[in-house]
Amino acid sequence: MFIEMVSGLLRDLRSGSIEDMVDLALDMDQPRFRGIQLFRWIHKSGVTSFMDMTNLPLEFRMRLREECSIQEPVIAARRQSAADGTVKLLLQLADGEKVESVIMPHEDNSGRCTVCVSSQIGCPVGCVFCATGSMGFTRNLSVSEILSQVYLADKLGMNGRKRWYVSNVVFMGMGEPFLNYEAVIKSLRILMDSQGINIGQRRIVVSTAGYVPGIMKMAGEGLQAVLAVSLHAADNGLRNRLVPLNRKYPLEALAEACSYYNEKTGRRITFEYALINNINDSTECARQLAKFAEPLSANVNLIPLNDVSHVDYRRSSNTQVAAFMKVLEDNGVEAVIRKERGSDIAGACGQLRLLLKE
Ligand code: SAH
Ligand code: SF4
Repeated sequence: MFIEMVSGLLRDLRSGSIEDMVDLALDMDQPRFRGIQLFRWIHKSGVTSFMDMTNLPLEFRMRLREECSIQEPVIAARRQSAADGTVKLLLQLADGEKVESVIMPHEDNSGRCTVCVSSQIGCPVGCVFCATGSMGFTRNLSVSEILSQVYLADKLGMNGRKRWYVSNVVFMGMGEPFLNYEAVIKSLRILMDSQGINIGQRRIVVSTAGYVPGIMKMAGEGLQAVLAVSLHAADNGLRNRLVPLNRKYPLEALAEACSYYNEKTGRRITFEYALINNINDSTECARQLAKFAEPLSANVNLIPLNDVSHVDYRRSSNTQVAAFMKVLEDNGVEAVIRKERGSDIAGACGQLRLLLKE
């Protein structure tokens, strides 16, 4: 059984799958269905005290209280965008480390919201235009810490004036998800569990900077989640500069992995492309991108660069974005320009770094 330990003493049940909970119940001389009830309390109801699990026998609850815990990070800071209602949370974890997540209520008044979760504290990849990349890497997040970002967002939505519930989860916060592979995949499965928070598989996006072994491995997981690959350049020289991971996994290897992913899953990949003024936004770059994306039937998300206070990297002009988009369309590649959210609170793509340091 794999349930993460806290402080080396107590098992943190927020990291447990339904199978883990059933095993735990059986270990504690309880019938299987008690494990399922436990899973529902933790992953559906978001309860953090064993004593509140009123349909469990008291002796089982007491034993759980002695031997296990349910960790929940503390909200250390919170900022809300006046412009679009986006909320950025700074969470303090059990060991004192901090991590950010972003809650984006949908603008259609459906009550749905997307949570952008972090998978690591910092990021070892070091893309030159990304604020997270510039803060270095501290450690991976646990399953419990990843899920907590979603559960806290859901709780906030239940209590606030403007109500929302989490309908979508995107792994686009701090960190490279495939460098924390096991924890990310386990989190995905728990999020999708119909006995838990039950997020639709296709409403979950995992975004990678192009870690080829992760793409290959995820192809075999039998998941329907959406895979996004952050491309930013379809030329090795330029991509080596922007996304250092390209030096290890160049475009040829990346294309092969994407093609394998397509074959194995029957799912299209999305390429993310941050448009940086005079760096990767020429029509020639657009042609290279089209040539790369078209054989893979990939969609393209264009993201006009969000400001990270770096002099060399500015967003492309609207005219350039439109010209770039037109080349893609003319070459049969479906593209959308991603609407910016939360940029007034530094909560947009690539702007995540510790609130306290701002
Ligand atoms: N590490 C993963 C996921 C987190 S980043 C990845 O790189 O894919 C989420 C997305 O934001 C990625 O596509 C990333 O390249 C992009 N991004 C990073 N910095 C940005 C910036 N300053 N402006 C716009 N997008 C940025
Ligand atoms: Fe890491 Fe993604 Fe930022 Fe690159 S863009 S440094 S992979 S978080």
